[in-house]
Amino acid sequence: MDAMDARGLQAEVDGLMDGLRADLERLAAIPSIAFPGFPAEPVREAHGLLVGLLKDAGVERVERIDLPDTAPVIFGEIPPPTPDAPTVLLYSHYDVQPAGDEKLWKSPPFEPTPVEGGLRARGIADDKSNVIAHLGMLRAFKGRPPVGVKIVFEGQEEYGSPFDDYPPTDPERFACDAMVIADLGNLRPGTPTLTTGLRGASEVVVEVRTLEEPRHSGEFGGAAPDALLVVLKALATLHDVHGDVAVEGLRREEWTGTRT
Ligand SMILES: [Zn+2]
Repeated sequence: MDAMDARGLQAEVDGLMDGLRADLERLAAIPSIAFPGFPAEPVREAHGLLVGLLKDAGVERVERIDLPDTAPVIFGEIPPPTPDAPTVLLYSHYDVQPAGDEKLWKSPPFEPTPVEGGLRARGIADDKSNVIAHLGMLRAFKGRPPVGVKIVFEGQEEYGSPFDDYPPTDPERFACDAMVIADLGNLRPGTPTLTTGLRGASEVVVEVRTLEEPRHSGEFGGAAPDALLVVLKALATLHDVHGDVAVEGLRREEWTGTRT
């Protein structure tokens, strides 16, 4: 995109902000809490609102993925404008955490309230404003972005959902060249932030065998090899005394990006 296009797009986005904010307020006013013990109707309402907003924004193909024991997943698709254009998958979720003790809130959790730098409501940062950011992109390009788009808006992310296991069973549907997972924070209000990497977690099973059979701890404790101690020792080698990762190939890199 050249500078002229970028300026034009910026002006377009500026012009869209009031409408996007109004839609965010509508969405944030719905207590779409997909947890056991909370009514399902608001989750369905948020789903319905978003489907309508996506269609209005030019997404012709909007489907729902219905799986057992979870809220419907919104799936939308805009085909690539040319055969060689890449496809970008946009992810976010329309459910929120329960509000907890409402007496502790400075304003009612499902009444979006202006505060310095933004709006306060339950789930407005996680993840409803990010849903609306995707919508804003579609509007800015009048529903015809320069890439193919796939949209995945989940409805039961906060509680956990069987949807986690679904994409590998239907890989073609989710095939794309890049994903924008809009479910992370900004450095500060007013500073749009693109996170390009996160550290992850792995679940591994480590099995250690030391002796063929058990030995009496009172007689052999400390002297005979102990499987638990071996595991502890191995875990302790993962970090050095400063807490830095000590595994070769997982070096700490100097951070050259923005600092908070
Ligand atoms: Zn989230």
